[in-house]
Amino acid sequence: MIRVLVNGAAGRMGSEVVRSVLAEDGLELCGGVDIGAAGKDLGEVIGIGHNGMTIDKTLKDAFAKGKPDVIVDFTSPKVIYENAKYVLENGVNIVIGTTGLTAKQREELAGIAEKTGANGLVAPNFSLGAVLLMKVSAEISKYMPNAEIIELHHNHKYDAPSGTAKLTAEKMAAARTMEPEADETKESLPGVRGGKYEGITIHSVRLPGYVAHQEVLFGGYGEILTLRHDSLDRKSFMPGVMLACKKCMTVKGFVYGLENYLE
Ligand code: NAP
Repeated sequence: MIRVLVNGAAGRMGSEVVRSVLAEDGLELCGGVDIGAAGKDLGEVIGIGHNGMTIDKTLKDAFAKGKPDVIVDFTSPKVIYENAKYVLENGVNIVIGTTGLTAKQREELAGIAEKTGANGLVAPNFSLGAVLLMKVSAEISKYMPNAEIIELHHNHKYDAPSGTAKLTAEKMAAARTMEPEADETKESLPGVRGGKYEGITIHSVRLPGYVAHQEVLFGGYGEILTLRHDSLDRKSFMPGVMLACKKCMTVKGFVYGLENYLE
C-alpha cells in the first residue's frame, strides 16, 4: 500500500483527493494537513463523517507522526515552493496540483529531488482530456501558427492565466514550424486583446459557475479550427491524481506535466 498524505485536505481539491484516496485500490490515506482546519476531524470536515484522523497544521507536525510515501499538494501558490522544498528535502515523493511555481523554482526543486532521491510531478492540469487537448494543440500549431487561447474558470481562482493555458501556449510555441501573422489591431481599451505568450494571445475569463474550461482557436485561410475542453466537476481531475500517486513511486525525477506519466 502507498501511504498518501494530503496537504490542503480541507480545500475544494484537497477534500476531493481525500475521498478518492480512500476509495482507491493500492493507496492508503495516512492523514491530512490544512492550515484553516487544523485540529478538526478530517472526515467531519470533508463531509464523510467522523474518521478519527485529526488534521495537522503543518507538514512538519504530520511528518512527526511518520513519513508518508507521497504528498499530494493542493494548497496555495503563496506556499507551494516552501511546501515542495520541505517535502523533497525530507526525501518524500510529491504530486503537485497547486499552481504558481515558476520555471526557476521547478528547476531548483528538481535539483533538491536529485540530491535526496525523491520523485515528483507538477501538473497544471490532472484531467486526461485537458492533457490531450494540449498535445493535439501542439501538433496543430505546426501547420496553423495563428492561435488564441480562451481559458474560463470560477472567480475564486487565485491566478491568471491558468497554468494549463500557459503550458498549452508553451507547447504550441515550441512546436511551431512557421511564425504567426502579426496582430495589427490597436487597443482603445488597454488589455482588451488579452495577454501574449510568444505571439499566442491568452484571454482569462473569471465568472461564478465555471469550473475549468479551455478553448484553443486556430485561424487559417478561410477556415477556423476550434478545440474545447470542459472540466465539469473536480472529479475529472481525480483519475490523473490517483495515477500520479502510483507513478511517482517509480518514475525517477521531478517532472512537469501529467503527460510524463502517461504511457
Ligand atoms: P482551496 O479550496 O482554497 O483549498 C486550498 C486549501 O489549502 C485551503 O483549505 C487552505 O486553507 C489550505 N492551505 C492554504 N495554505 C496552506 C498551508 N500553508 N498549509 C496547509 N494548508 C494550506 O483551493 P482549491 O480550489 O482546492 O485550489 C488549490 C490549488 O490547486 C490552486 O492553486 C488551484 O489553482 C489548483 N488547482 C489545480 C488543478 C490541477 O488540475 N492541477 C485543478 C484545480 C485547482 P485556508 O482556506 O484556511 O487558507
